[in-house]
Amino acid sequence: MILPPSKGRFAPSPSGPLHFGSLVCALASYADIKSKRGKWLVRIEDIDPPREVKGASRQILLQLESHGLRWDDSVVYQSNRLSLYSEIINDLQNKGAIYFCDCNRARLRELNGVYDKFCKTRQLISEGNATRLIINSDLDYISFNDAIFGWQEQNLTTNVGDFIIRRRDGLISYQLAVIVDDNAQGITDILRGSDLLGSTHRQIFLQRMLGFPQPNYTHLPIATSKNNLKLSKQNLASELPAGRESENLWLALKWLKQNPPQDLKVLSAEEIVGWAVANWNPTTIPPKTIQRAPEGFYDTPCK
Ligand code: GLU
Repeated sequence: MILPPSKGRFAPSPSGPLHFGSLVCALASYADIKSKRGKWLVRIEDIDPPREVKGASRQILLQLESHGLRWDDSVVYQSNRLSLYSEIINDLQNKGAIYFCDCNRARLRELNGVYDKFCKTRQLISEGNATRLIINSDLDYISFNDAIFGWQEQNLTTNVGDFIIRRRDGLISYQLAVIVDDNAQGITDILRGSDLLGSTHRQIFLQRMLGFPQPNYTHLPIATSKNNLKLSKQNLASELPAGRESENLWLALKWLKQNPPQDLKVLSAEEIVGWAVANWNPTTIPPKTIQRAPEGFYDTPCK
């Protein structure tokens, strides 16, 4: 059997410039796929305009380049792919796999995150309503093996219920867009933050519904600030300091428990990234959901 070529990706949302947490994900996914002689793709997940920061996509790409992280093929922007997502939703509708829902926030809050199929038989129209995917109880047990966190299992009926794939305002959900694009781009290896570990079961369910192959999953601890909050623009993550790329990369490798030698620090970004590929060892990364970022990478918020 001829296996497809290995492909990994970094898929940032343009909600701000890269910070330490996004650098470790980018570097780890790069080193992982390049150590398998695969391709590394970049996809900008820009389908949530309210969360988007003007100029962030361009800045992220410049920061990746200055850190020696060069992508293969052209950058994909999800905002150019909206018609493909709509086609997939139409296919799901033709299969009888979705329905429309007008439940308000107050009602959903009472359900504690597990939807009770209230709208399934109500025959609502799509306009102005959310689109939910039906979780068939024969297929609702999902398990997979994560390269760092090990065996993961979830019953979707009891944990989430029929979930939203298109919001009432027409925005496509992350869960749908991510699996459509990972499939279209031929991604074989997904490496990302542990905040998405619990989304993976839903994504595998969608892949099965659509007949897509299942990629390999590796989730990393997420980098946090002092108060154990995920580094993000809201939680005072600092923008990666420009002009200190080698140090940023060295600290990222140390954080990823790759044991970088001291004298690596003085080399160029490209040379450090080359070392990371040649010495990549994900088995040393602990299966912890969070891990503190080094001092200096938070508390000075991005502008
Ligand atoms: N766009 C998502 C984020 O920035 C990551 C998606 C993924 O890696 O699956 O959090």
